[in-house]
Amino acid sequence: MKLSLFNTVTRKREDFNPLDINLIKMYVCGPTVYDHPHIGNARSAVVYDILYRVLMQIYGQNKVLYVRNITDIDDKIIDRAMQLNIPISELTEKTIIDYNNDMQYLGCLKPTKEPKATQYIPQMISIIQKLLDLGVAYEAQKYIYFDVSKAKNYTLLSSRTIEELQESGRIETDKNKKNINDFVLWKPAKQNDDASTKFSSPFGIGRPGWHIECSAMSYEFLGPTFDIHGGGIDLIFPHHTNEIAQSCSAFPGSSYAKYWVHNGFLTVDHEKMSKSLGNFITVKNLIDKQIKGDVIRLLLLNTHYRKPLDYNKKALEDAEKILNYWYRAIEALDVKDITLYDDNNNISQVFLGSLFDDLNTPMAIKLINDFAKESHGAKTHEIKITAAKKMLYCAKFLGLMRVNKENWFKINIDQKHVENLINQRSDAKKQKNWSLADQIRDNLIALDVSIEDKADGTTAWKSLTKK
Ligand SMILES: [Zn+2]
Repeated sequence: MKLSLFNTVTRKREDFNPLDINLIKMYVCGPTVYDHPHIGNARSAVVYDILYRVLMQIYGQNKVLYVRNITDIDDKIIDRAMQLNIPISELTEKTIIDYNNDMQYLGCLKPTKEPKATQYIPQMISIIQKLLDLGVAYEAQKYIYFDVSKAKNYTLLSSRTIEELQESGRIETDKNKKNINDFVLWKPAKQNDDASTKFSSPFGIGRPGWHIECSAMSYEFLGPTFDIHGGGIDLIFPHHTNEIAQSCSAFPGSSYAKYWVHNGFLTVDHEKMSKSLGNFITVKNLIDKQIKGDVIRLLLLNTHYRKPLDYNKKALEDAEKILNYWYRAIEALDVKDITLYDDNNNISQVFLGSLFDDLNTPMAIKLINDFAKESHGAKTHEIKITAAKKMLYCAKFLGLMRVNKENWFKINIDQKHVENLINQRSDAKKQKNWSLADQIRDNLIALDVSIEDKADGTTAWKSLTKK
C-alpha cells in the first residue's frame, strides 16, 4: 500500500517517494498572528495534521520533520497592534498562544518546529544578499526587489504563463519595479515605525517582505530540497510561486519542494467568509458556543481536502450526530478496550488505504461509520465489541473521539438546559410563536434529544445519547 498525493506541480496524483525514508521533510505555511484563527485557518491546520499522522504511520513516529512557520512580522500585525494600542510583541505572543490553544482544541498535533519569522532575519538577509550577488534581485529607492524576469521555475506551480501572471499583478502601482510581478524582498523602515519592526541589514534599516521568510525557514530546517510543501490554494500565486523563484535561484541545483499539496477554500453558507459580510467565524466563536472540538474537526474532514468546503449550521449538526452515533457504539466497550487504541497496528487496512489515497478523509469517515453500523446492528456481543473497537481505533487515528464516552455525553446532555429549552418552547407555543418553537425544537434535536408532545400540552423527552 503506497501513499499517493495530488501534486500541484504536475497536476496529477503521484506515488509519494521521499528523498530519504529516514527523515520525511514537510513545510507548511502557518498563521500570520494578528487575530484569532478563523475556520479557514483551522481547515489548513487539520488537513496537514492528517498528512503528518499518515506520514508517521508509514515512516515512524520520529521520522517526520514537520515545520510550520509563524509570521510574526507583517503589515496586518503592525496595523492591529496600533489599533489596539499595544506593543507588537504583546499582540503576537498572545495570538500565538490563542492559535496553539485553538488548534489543540481541534485535536491537531504540534508540528516538530514552529519557527517565528522575526527570529530568522539574518537567514533572510543572507538569501537576499545572494540574490543581489547573482543579479536576480535589484535595489530601487531603498527597496530590494526580486526580478521575476530572471527567475527559475517561475510558472512551475501556477501552470499559468508569464503573461497571465502579469495580468493578475496589474493592479500593482509600484513604480519602482522593473516587471509587474517583481516582489519586495526588503523594505526600508519609515521614521515612525515601531522599533521592534526595524532590523539592520547591508541594504539599510528595514524589514523583510513576506515571501522570503518561508524560503529562509524551510532552508534552515529542511535544506534546499525537501519532500512536501503545503498550504492553502490561495497561496499558489504569488506566495508559493515566489518562494520557488527565490529558493531555486538562491540555491543552485535546488528544486525546492518535490510535492506541493494545497487545500481548498472554505466558504460559510456558500459565501466567501469576510468580516464585512458578517460571516467571519473564528475557532474561538465556536468554542464560546460550546461546540466540541471533535465536531468541528469532523466537519472539516468530511470534505476532501482539495475540494471547496462549505461551513454551515447543518454540516455542524450532522457532524455532531455522526459522533453521537459513534459514541453510542462504544458504550459496550470497557476501559481496557478503549485504552488499547494507541497500538496503530490495529488499524483497519482498508481505512488506511482510503487515507493513503490522496487523504480521502470522507471515505475514511464513511468506513468508520460502517464499523459503527456493524456494531449497532451486531447479533452477538463479540461482533459488537470487535466492530466498536475497529471503529474507535480508526476514529482515534483521525484525531477524533478524544473525549471519553462518559464526558462526551455529560457535556452533551445537560438536563437543566434541556428542561429550560422545553419550557421556553411551551411558552413560545402558548404565544403562538411557531417559528421560535420550531427553532427550539431544532436545538433540542441538535442536542440529540427526542421530544414527544402529549395531548395535555406537556412534553416528554428522552436523550438518544443515553440509554
Ligand atoms: Zn509561506
